[in-house]
Amino acid sequence: MSRRFENAVAVVTGAGSGIGAATATRLSHEGASVVLVDVAEDAARAVAEKLPGPALAVRADVSSEEDTEAYLAAAVERFGRIDLHHLNAGIVGTFDRLPDITLADFDRVVAVNLRGTFLGVRGAFRQYARQGSGGAIVITASIASLRGSHDLLPYESSKHGVLGVMRGAAMYGGPQGVRVNAVAPGLVPTGLFSGSGGVAGAGGDILRRGTTVPQRRTGTPDEVAAAVAFLLSDDASYVNGEVLSVDGGSAWVNTVRPGGGAGAWDPTPVDEAAQVIPNSGASS
Ligand code: NAD
Repeated sequence: MSRRFENAVAVVTGAGSGIGAATATRLSHEGASVVLVDVAEDAARAVAEKLPGPALAVRADVSSEEDTEAYLAAAVERFGRIDLHHLNAGIVGTFDRLPDITLADFDRVVAVNLRGTFLGVRGAFRQYARQGSGGAIVITASIASLRGSHDLLPYESSKHGVLGVMRGAAMYGGPQGVRVNAVAPGLVPTGLFSGSGGVAGAGGDILRRGTTVPQRRTGTPDEVAAAVAFLLSDDASYVNGEVLSVDGGSAWVNTVRPGGGAGAWDPTPVDEAAQVIPNSGASS
């Protein structure tokens, strides 16, 4: 694996599980010192202990202004500076029908996913200004940032919103050498749906839903982490304000054409032998 982040300091939120854990692992293998932020402190610490390079686990709720300032301060106290941010912590929220969604459910999802992203971006910019440096930020958006469905409405609202934060921040950061981009994962089996029980569209049927993906499978956290690492690296030095879908082609399915790519419709036979999940080397 290349070492694109030698001497860099990275903050990853939601680093105790899934995509965040995979990114923390990937960045560490590529030479970064990593600050792993999660409301689940034990989980973040367990990931940190397995990293090959310097690491610090910090308990913080990203929806809290106070906690955000505290995790940034902890990062600077330990490593002296911050170069890279992966703002990734998120929750899925309620699957209730639209008329049944409570204000509390809506507000909590927006607080973690959207306000948490804003607080992380604002904190990153303040820290870059203090350092007199540029930097790079990647936000974890979602296919739910780009497409509609009538389940997960608070989640979709928050994930559409993070693209507004991302694009505004990219415009602000451009002249200052700060790039801001997003990844939009599709179906990735992680802990995200662990509290959702057997609800349709949650974790229980994720593999079956994977057959509707043009690549006919779900993705892995490592595959998302590879895209995050690309966007954080100098390999993406002229990429700013972009959303990179990591979804096996799902966002581009033309659902009204028989050859549009949607598994349930597309008559193209699936080549089972070609269903290989590449091994990136970094595990989560
Ligand atoms: P995950 O549940 O495995 O990991 C999310 C982590 O965020 C957990 O460790 C959790 O403790 C932490 N977290 C939750 N609320 C927090 C808070 N308030 N403050 C700090 N940490 C908090 O899920 P994941 O799939 O790895 O999700 C990571 C991101 O990817 C989320 O933003 C999610 O919306 C997004 N995403 C996931 C998928 C998917 O299919 N898994 C698809 C699209 C987008």
